[in-house]
Amino acid sequence: MTGLANHRCVVYAGARRLTLGTAEPTPPPAGHVRVDVAYTGICGTDLRIFHGDMDGRVDPPRVIGHEMSGRIAQVGPDVREWWPGDQVTIMPLIRCGGCPACRAGHPHLCHRLIFLGIDAPGSLQNSWTVPASALVRLPLEARLDHAALAEPTAVAVHAVRRAGLRPGEKAIVVGGGPTGLLVAIVARRTGADVLLVEADPHRTSVAEELGLRTLDPSGDRLALVVGEWTAGAGAAVAFEVSGLAAGVATAVDALAVRGRMAQVAVHPAPREISLPRLLSRELTLVGACLYDRADFETAVGLIADGDVPARTLISRIEPLERAAQAFDALDAGMGVMKVLVDCRAD
Ligand SMILES: [Zn+2]
Ligand SMILES: [Zn+2]
Repeated sequence: MTGLANHRCVVYAGARRLTLGTAEPTPPPAGHVRVDVAYTGICGTDLRIFHGDMDGRVDPPRVIGHEMSGRIAQVGPDVREWWPGDQVTIMPLIRCGGCPACRAGHPHLCHRLIFLGIDAPGSLQNSWTVPASALVRLPLEARLDHAALAEPTAVAVHAVRRAGLRPGEKAIVVGGGPTGLLVAIVARRTGADVLLVEADPHRTSVAEELGLRTLDPSGDRLALVVGEWTAGAGAAVAFEVSGLAAGVATAVDALAVRGRMAQVAVHPAPREISLPRLLSRELTLVGACLYDRADFETAVGLIADGDVPARTLISRIEPLERAAQAFDALDAGMGVMKVLVDCRAD
């Protein structure tokens, strides 16, 4: 059905309030397409919005959601190379094109970046109109539920690239939520020897199901285990994906001489970091924020080829009407990894 029947959407209305709304669809303007959304994944950023922590940017009421898959329903004027029925995901970044970051070739760090689903309407709706420049093609064989993991997988691909991870290196990943697991999976596929640090037993069990080596940091075994694993040297790379102050310390302490720490998680506040350690080991600290188009296309390829164990990472799929319950389940924290919302119109 590609007509313009009213479609349903999930609206963030203010802290801890999600409402189900209807929207009157309009035909896509020039340079835009209307996408029938299939699935939208919920992530930590969506949860921060849900908590009201990003109201300054989100400006409710706002349809949120940015990790998605779908099919093109309608193509606006002046759109070439895209057709109704094409399977797509969307890289949810709109750059300005003129700021110093854009001009330097880093559009994902645009000073005036518009993030779809945060600064502009998102994908938790049956039908989403977006600029054609944001589309990323999905291969015919890609499953739409799995393809909703493209965006967080692109974060992982970017992080591994920013860390300069090389085959054979030892890499510690601090934090075993969906992004941490994806970083660990991409790092392992690069040929690194990966150790995942996570205390939550459900997250640890998912990681072990995926064949990842895990370590609970809550005891005092961390230094011992890392020491044994690396013959006393420490890890070449540490990915900080926990967003916790303790995670920063864990990552820094685990690094070898000339080790690299990639900061992947969003921290809600400034954190302390041991500068004596940074100095004495000549550590490098790199930020890994979002992704570029090449990272996104790599991520789509990894998913289509089955290199991302999407089946294991997706804990459950809820219908659009139950999006609020899906947020509550994630908020409660225990027992779920990635939750998708089925956004298909019936
Ligand atoms: Zn996200
Ligand atoms: Zn810019």
